[in-house]
Amino acid sequence: MQDIATSQTILVVGGGVSGMTAALEAAECGKQVILAEKSPTLGGRTALLYRYFPKLCHPACGLEINLRRLRGNRNVRVMTLTEVTKIDGRRGDYSVTLRIAPRYVNERCTACGACAEAVGAEIPNPWNYNLNRMKAAYLPHAMAYPQRYVLDASILGTPEAEKARAACKHGAIDLDMKEETLTLKAAAVIWATGWQPYDAARIQPYGYGRFANVLTSVEFERLADPHGPTGGRILRPSDAKEAKNIAFIQCAGSRDENHLRHCSRICCMASLKQTQFVREAYGDAAQSTIYYIDIRAIDRFEDFYRKVQADKGVKFVKSKPARIEQDRASGDLILHGVDTEGYHRYAARHDLAVLAIGMQPSVRGADVPAEVIEDSSGFLENLPENTVFGAGCATGALDVNRSVQSATAAALRAIQVVNRAARAES
Ligand SMILES: Cc1cc2nc3c(=O)[nH]c(=O)nc-3n(C[C@H](O)[C@H](O)[C@H](O)COP(=O)(O)OP(=O)(O)OC[C@H]3O[C@@H](n4cnc5c(N)ncnc54)[C@H](O)[C@@H]3O)c2cc1C
Ligand code: SF4
Ligand code: SF4
Repeated sequence: MQDIATSQTILVVGGGVSGMTAALEAAECGKQVILAEKSPTLGGRTALLYRYFPKLCHPACGLEINLRRLRGNRNVRVMTLTEVTKIDGRRGDYSVTLRIAPRYVNERCTACGACAEAVGAEIPNPWNYNLNRMKAAYLPHAMAYPQRYVLDASILGTPEAEKARAACKHGAIDLDMKEETLTLKAAAVIWATGWQPYDAARIQPYGYGRFANVLTSVEFERLADPHGPTGGRILRPSDAKEAKNIAFIQCAGSRDENHLRHCSRICCMASLKQTQFVREAYGDAAQSTIYYIDIRAIDRFEDFYRKVQADKGVKFVKSKPARIEQDRASGDLILHGVDTEGYHRYAARHDLAVLAIGMQPSVRGADVPAEVIEDSSGFLENLPENTVFGAGCATGALDVNRSVQSATAAALRAIQVVNRAARAES
């Protein structure tokens, strides 16, 4: 580690698309970078999307390009299961403390999967938003980087952990691994810790958590994905019936004084995109209804919006539903509200409801060990007095394209600091 952590190192915190971009841009300018990610894999929430709007391509394309750049660059040191606990000093000269959680699997792992086959214990699968369970010895997802398994701490000290160790022919399982603490020098810090879905259970009238067939948009991405809990079949959770008649409810938690005040900017596009997943799955039998206040599809996304508007399988209802009820016998959902174009009351029946859930910053409520200035929604403001440079969704609800632009800007600011520090040293 000491070979890379010098007084001219850039520390990037968060290994989603923004953190990876910032790290790569700086490293490709010749700077030394440490990329610290708290989960066992890079990729962030982008890796959990089924397809990207507007082109409907798979996230694998973009992530794979970044991973190839990363593998070929010796200037970046990736540290997973790592969090920053302390930042001391001043811009150009920081001392940073990192806490590294044990993976219980070392670098000899070939990702053969024998340990997962041997272990019977299961845990909720956070990479499918807990819609299913996975083995307690696991690879987070198909695109995980590093391609190295993880042993969940819950099976430590049980016969299950011994089964995993015995199954590994490569000596990769190390049950004695301990949490480590490390203090490093860094000249600049980029904060790219991204976003989290708003807690849908707090939107009480929609019954999330009470009604099995009310899902969030992030869960719906997993439902449509062949690597997801249903193998890519859009089935409703209550009875595994094919969900062909789906309600998409916009602004679920966003633009609401009781929840998130801001517009999450992405969720209109996400729902427009998701109607096309339904179309792809069920052809002419697909019926999607978007309940909206207004559709926010900016710049080049306008064309995609028009394309979806022309789809006969997609209906638009200008209304924010007041509440959802569940028909106990059938499991169907009944949406109640008023259509604000005709002022008609409706009670509309659907197989499934998808809440276009708001995006809230991961920094909100998190213990960021640095002086940061947040806007009224908790996103980082990039002000000169901040210790860290914000990047991507840590600074606002952004799509991937804008996250990459924001991360590139953060990398440039960090490079300027390193260059100044280098000049001062020489
Ligand atoms: C339903 C939905 C669908 C979407 N679909 C699209 C789409 O089709 N096209 C598109 O362009 N955009 C889409 N988006 C937006 C896209 O998800 C974001 O643009 C993207 O995730 C931003 O990446 P990020 O790296 O800024 O944040 P994230 O993806 O959130 O990554 C942040 C990373 O930081 C890590 N982290 C968090 N806290 C810490 C910490 N304290 N220390 C270390 N690491 C930490 C996290 O584990 C994570 O890996 C969608 C969003 C939603 C809600
Ligand atoms: S830990 Fe061992 S058994 Fe498990 S995937 Fe890695 S190499 Fe295979
Ligand atoms: S992007 Fe659309 S759904 Fe999301 S908060 Fe803004 S208006 Fe509402």
